Amino acid sequence: MVEIKGFLETSFIDWKGKLCSVLFLPHCNFRCPYCHNHPLILHPEQYESIPLEAIFNRLHSLRDWIDGICLTGGEPTLHPELPLLALEIKKQGFQVKLDTNGSHPQMLKRLIEERLVDYISMDIKAPLDPFSYRRSAGVSVNIESLWRSIEILKEEKVDYEFRMTVVPELHTMEDLLLLGHQVRPGPRIVLQNFNPENPLDPSLRKTPPFDPLLLKEMEKTLQKMV
Ligand code: SF4
Repeated sequence: MVEIKGFLETSFIDWKGKLCSVLFLPHCNFRCPYCHNHPLILHPEQYESIPLEAIFNRLHSLRDWIDGICLTGGEPTLHPELPLLALEIKKQGFQVKLDTNGSHPQMLKRLIEERLVDYISMDIKAPLDPFSYRRSAGVSVNIESLWRSIEILKEEKVDYEFRMTVVPELHTMEDLLLLGHQVRPGPRIVLQNFNPENPLDPSLRKTPPFDPLLLKEMEKTLQKMV
């Protein structure tokens, strides 16, 4: 079974409109300079693994409050046992939300086909070209895999969103428009402002976030791109 390295009992912010618990899975194949969960991806051994049974015991007492469980990380789709974990959660009667960077479309396909996931939030890091993506993800990324994940989500066999963290050092407004023209995300896209607190690349600590009003306007523009 997948090692679980963190458990947040209740969250209002990880699944829009729902109260959920959050399970944090270790490791990631990306190294986004703005990542806040970098201890979990660089040094997961620092965290004790939490037995799933202990989590379920706690969740039973929260059953009347919790709508579902968010699986995040790290990158959950790196773990071949992810479908089994989702199945166990489903058996307990909870809905499942998955956060992913979209690099493993075959895992998304399987989770959707086997009805093991109710909502997928896919991070898009930059316009879909190798140079832009490498800069924002910190590693070379197979762009074809990302396109495949985007296509799978756009088939609308599961509820989903595209989410992008916008970082002034990495993204311009032109980048966002280009991304909008490429992906045509429609109302499914959410822009998230960069938070300079404790990023993977310490030089970003001095980077102020975007003007929130400007970002909201850009989000509305992208949401009209269908
Ligand atoms: S994909 Fe997510 S978890 Fe992985 S490095 Fe980027 S922000 Fe961090």
